[in-house]
Amino acid sequence: MDKKQEKCPYVERCGACNLGKVPYEETLVEKKKWVEECIGKHCKVIHDVAGMYYPYHYRNKVHAVFGRQKDKVISGTYAEGTHTIIPIEDCQIEDAQASAIIKTVTELINSFKLWVYNEDTGRGLMRHILIRKGMSTKQIMVVLVTAAPEFPHKNNFVDALRKRHPEITTIVQNINSQQTTMVLGDRNKPLYGPGYIEDVLCGLRFRISPNSFYQINSAQTQVLYKKAIAAAALTGKETVIDAYCGIGTIGMAMAFKAGKVLGIELNKDAVKDARANAKRNQIQNIHFVAADATDYMIEMAEEGKTVDVVVMDPPRSGSTEEFIMATADINPSRVVYISCNPETLGRDLGWFKREGYQAKEAWPVDLFCHTNHCECVVLLEKR
Ligand code: SAH
Repeated sequence: MDKKQEKCPYVERCGACNLGKVPYEETLVEKKKWVEECIGKHCKVIHDVAGMYYPYHYRNKVHAVFGRQKDKVISGTYAEGTHTIIPIEDCQIEDAQASAIIKTVTELINSFKLWVYNEDTGRGLMRHILIRKGMSTKQIMVVLVTAAPEFPHKNNFVDALRKRHPEITTIVQNINSQQTTMVLGDRNKPLYGPGYIEDVLCGLRFRISPNSFYQINSAQTQVLYKKAIAAAALTGKETVIDAYCGIGTIGMAMAFKAGKVLGIELNKDAVKDARANAKRNQIQNIHFVAADATDYMIEMAEEGKTVDVVVMDPPRSGSTEEFIMATADINPSRVVYISCNPETLGRDLGWFKREGYQAKEAWPVDLFCHTNHCECVVLLEKR
């Protein structure tokens, strides 16, 4: 593959990444510095950021918003900090097949004369498009987000889209009637195919529904999970908690090295996927609960339960002080913290230190190449 530095014509207006402005290798050095600033006082050993060989077109999840420009429907991304849509056709970090499908859907909305949603008036139908691709299986899901359940010419629209893109394996209508910045609503109606895709990660097969979380860079996720599995140092007997587990990917990748695993996840759709995934992969020593991770850990602590290892992977806002206090009561000898935000990670490592857990080593992994995000695995041990 060509390793030359790609250029992006939208970089100044889009704001989602700094591609072409800073050489890739330099971004890795900058990210390491940032991680050091955020967690350096809690963790002495911070490794170099594990970068990607070809850091382009890695995003397996691609989103665009629909809008109007004169009398034409356009799709693209909001310019940073505004609600002005920049029509983007060939984003260098998004999957190229997904970009092509978005272009076709936009053309079809024009030719079917469908009404585009207007954020100010709350009127109109077509709001967003979300594409997810299983990078291993090549399965592709198209989610059409509409403001109302009615979808004029639905069958013809789906037929026309499938004709132009036979690679699509499922099409879902998601209904989001709320005036919100959230892309997806709660209701999904499969218009074609099973309503989910599958992907293979760490040798396991995972089902992914429209609303479930799935890491957006599949290749680097495997690098990340390998670090996390090594840090957990399982011998086959341990009881493990996989907190904030999503569709169960990390817990399942660890289950064959553990005694038993319990996944905790707030999103009910993700828990449904996780249970189906355990069955699909014939993993019997993993169970899932749909609960708030903090509430559930407090409950376990109050019941006097203990575990050997806690793996946690909270959203950008990080975990909570109460979760960390309850974790200390549950008394694991190791905690493996996977973070997508060094700032909240630094705060949480401070709470862990107070509770008797020392951060030993950190491995940053570049999942969000060319953007100002950084993923990180940290091993903590009970002092
Ligand atoms: N470990 C998974 C998911 C990580 S993303 C993976 O690697 O794919 C963070 C997950 O935390 C999301 O699935 C989100 O739904 C979940 N989450 C957010 N807040 C939560 C809470 N308070 N309790 C439990 N899960 C939560």
